[in-house]
Amino acid sequence: MTTSIAAAHANLHCRAKPSDGKAHWKASSPSDLSFMTTLQGDSMRLCSSHGRWPQAHLCHKYVSNRAVVVSSARAGTTKFFDFVIIGSGVAGLRYALEVSKHGSVAIITKAEPHESNTNYAQGGVSAVLCPSDSVENHMRDTMVAGAYLCEEETVRVVCTEGPDRVKELIDFGASFDHGNDGKLHLAREGGHSHHRIVHAADMTGREIERALLKAVSDDPNIFMFGHHFAIDLLTSQDGSETSCHGVDTLNTETCQVVRFISKVTLLASGGAGHIYPSTTNPLVATGDGVAMAHRAKAVISNMEFVQFHPTALADEGLPVKPATKRENAFLITEAVRGDGGILYNQSMERFMPAYDERAELAPRDIVARSIDDQLKRRGERYVLLDISHRPREKILAHFPNIAAECLRHGLDITSSPIPVVPAAHYMCGGVRSGLHGETNVRGLFVAGEVACTGLHGANRLASNSLLEALVFARRAVQPSVEYKAGAGAGVDLAAAGGMWERPATPAPLGGDVVGAIERRTREIRAELQAAMWEYVGIVRSTGRLKAAEWKIGELEMEWETFLFRKGWKPNMVALEACEMRNLFCCAKLVLSSALSRQESRGLHFTVDFPFELSRRIPTLILPSSPSTKLTWSSQQLHRQIHHR
Ligand SMILES: Cc1cc2nc3c(=O)[nH]c(=O)nc-3n(C[C@H](O)[C@H](O)[C@H](O)COP(=O)(O)OP(=O)(O)OC[C@H]3O[C@@H](n4cnc5c(N)ncnc54)[C@H](O)[C@@H]3O)c2cc1C
Repeated sequence: MTTSIAAAHANLHCRAKPSDGKAHWKASSPSDLSFMTTLQGDSMRLCSSHGRWPQAHLCHKYVSNRAVVVSSARAGTTKFFDFVIIGSGVAGLRYALEVSKHGSVAIITKAEPHESNTNYAQGGVSAVLCPSDSVENHMRDTMVAGAYLCEEETVRVVCTEGPDRVKELIDFGASFDHGNDGKLHLAREGGHSHHRIVHAADMTGREIERALLKAVSDDPNIFMFGHHFAIDLLTSQDGSETSCHGVDTLNTETCQVVRFISKVTLLASGGAGHIYPSTTNPLVATGDGVAMAHRAKAVISNMEFVQFHPTALADEGLPVKPATKRENAFLITEAVRGDGGILYNQSMERFMPAYDERAELAPRDIVARSIDDQLKRRGERYVLLDISHRPREKILAHFPNIAAECLRHGLDITSSPIPVVPAAHYMCGGVRSGLHGETNVRGLFVAGEVACTGLHGANRLASNSLLEALVFARRAVQPSVEYKAGAGAGVDLAAAGGMWERPATPAPLGGDVVGAIERRTREIRAELQAAMWEYVGIVRSTGRLKAAEWKIGELEMEWETFLFRKGWKPNMVALEACEMRNLFCCAKLVLSSALSRQESRGLHFTVDFPFELSRRIPTLILPSSPSTKLTWSSQQLHRQIHHR
């Protein structure tokens, strides 16, 4: 793995308009590929697997749409689409609704379609919608929060286009809160100088996801494939150029490998919170997209900037503890602090003013570090966030979801403070993209949390991520359509289906062996998460990062040795094992990026380099040479096709 801190675009060969009209690889049609315009079993099953996708309607779409062809190649199922989208959060859905005007669209998603970080977003979407605010204000707030590592042009684009993207959401049927004056109610969060957060109480993401999923289900050109886990991107190499032609997936309900061949692929697979043991992210956020893109030779950037949300609910401080450990930590939105919430230690001493003059409204990195410091100094396991001085009816109207969750555990937030603790929340880094979501891999676009567009710099400003996803999903449309009509159109799709070796399931190993592998993988996952929390957390040091490098390297070696001793083959796929390799891959990307940044900036704080350098440069992880990629997690499951 080559990690370097380099000038933002110096090492990137991104193009805003990728198409030169030429097909850059060709192949002959394999004879065993028989095309059918009728449905195969798994597609039929999909029709009935989700209540939102009416069977008759969807099946009719398949039969009538000649662009969608299901093949029965001997080794498994292959599907062909103009656009394949990995992820059904805000970024994937918003893009789908535009590109569907230009061709057939498949949305691949690893669980139920709504299961995503988007669905859990509480606070809202930031946008300049009030006359006393301005794009310049929003830009300044974004850059201050981002510790001046943000790219100014990206920030300008996002802050300028944001209001229109929010209005489009409303046109799609998303319903946001309004004030007594009938205008959108704009909340304020930490780091924002103005009220500019559009929200639906404290369940904004759920409302956005609902509205977009409804629009997608009404679109005859979009096909949703739930419970399909994307394994690896299908790429070819022509000299120094890598191109993407789709993705292999595992249908986790039927355990069948399904290959998707596409002219254009959008990676919108969200975050990687589960590299840590405590995260606000749902279980689907295992960094699959970043890992897949890294293996496919995409440039990865700024992975050291992991945002820890300062205030996740600390279950151990609740009067009634949850019966089982949560899969993801319950978030107490920043808007609680924006609404006047005050942080106290367990002696009810307000501590934030001692750390920053903005007190509770300081950016997240500062609040998280201050809480971390209080906890370490005092040997306590949580601090307290108090909103009870606000009128009861206002609290219940603004934070109904948080109030209900706390009440379920015996805590009335209108009269008592909430126990809170930091938890991993958001990846500021990801797959490096240009201003139109393009990557250095031809035919591969990115949007949403998986992307590193340059907006967040060293720290994301609250409520800027839904906005970024909306803006970049929209900006990626035009170059995608052009790529499809140009280079993408020349690709022999029929031939492509059989070009890569197919992954296999571990069924031949037998149930006992597969069960043992699953159990060991779960243990290793917990050990990796613990190491990341212990050594690559909120406050870092070179010694601890090096210790983590050694520990995680040993852990990966131990896990892979175990697997292969049990008879595992390099082309085998199962959900737990594939997630594990992605978690290892992401953890190592975070680690190597953190080691290469010899300063403290934004979310990356190291005691060995406590100050900011005057040079402001992003971290870039360039595709490594094959010889340095020795582990299973670092390599694509299939061999890449080379044309020269
Ligand atoms: C609790 C919480 C609160 C938040 N609050 C806010 C807020 O108030 N404002 C704000 O701006 N941001 C907020 N965020 C961040 C924001 O929600 C996310 O950054 C944003 O929703 C990301 O959208 P996305 O479309 O990129 O990814 P996601 O919404 O995470 O969607 C990713 C999709 O990819 C799928 N996927 C992942 N891997 C695979 C795979 N291997 N194969 C197939 N599918 C895959 C997932 O199943 C999912 O459908 C919050 C996040 C959390 C967790």
